[in-house]
Amino acid sequence: MGRKNQVTSVAVPAGRENGQTPNPKSQAPLALILFGPPGSGKGTQAKLLVKTLGIPQISTGDMLREHVRKGNAVGTKVEAKMKAGILVKDEVVNRLVEERLAQPDAARGFILDGYPRTRAQAETLCGMLAAQGAETVVIHLVVDYNEVIARLTGRRQCPVCGTLYNVTSKPPKVPGVCDLDGAALSVREDDREEVIRERLDAYQKQTRPLIDFFRESGKRLYDVDASHDPPEAVFGKILALIR
Ligand code: ADP
Repeated sequence: MGRKNQVTSVAVPAGRENGQTPNPKSQAPLALILFGPPGSGKGTQAKLLVKTLGIPQISTGDMLREHVRKGNAVGTKVEAKMKAGILVKDEVVNRLVEERLAQPDAARGFILDGYPRTRAQAETLCGMLAAQGAETVVIHLVVDYNEVIARLTGRRQCPVCGTLYNVTSKPPKVPGVCDLDGAALSVREDDREEVIRERLDAYQKQTRPLIDFFRESGKRLYDVDASHDPPEAVFGKILALIR
């Protein structure tokens, strides 16, 4: 009942789609939260939405991996937890998001992918969104447990261009080789089976309960079935909901 699945309001003001710049004085920025378990396609949908809406993707996972790659202070702090599939400290991700939201390209709106993941993060985010006067929409990507396991265990990525493949549902033309640049595909370190279990466990215990938090705090929340349809069809459903 209540707010779930409501489709009445328009969250993307005319002019924001196709990358046009709406008048910042008259338009509230859109805060689009992509919510769902690991493997539900948040990153894939975020990339499609970036192209259409012209607002940036903010992925805490990507940001943290970048710090690990650079080997800086944040990277050193979070590396072991990420390898183990455990959530990193709230204060670390909250600070990253706060700094990212202050960048000029986020002024018209942004797509949050993998954040918030705990109650403390959700509360911090609500404060930031209120300060910005953002219009918030939560898209909950609903995927069967077995499908999530199949997606994550079969996931392969090009270390050069970042293209994602899946050994069963989206194989490269030559096994183990990127179609675009010929690089050898790799398995993300936390896509090993025992780590996948940890990540799903963290999702169930710490993140999934945020659905109730979003509802209670009056956020617009839509469930979108992302188990069966190809990414383009899921994307179409999301656009129809937010437009
Ligand atoms: P997935 O959603 O597939 O698990 P992500 O790339 O979003 O992958 O996250 C990878 C890892 O980065 C997580 O397992 C966790 O260790 C860390 N991480 C990412 N986002 C957060 C967050 N919002 N809070 C705490 N840890 C995070």
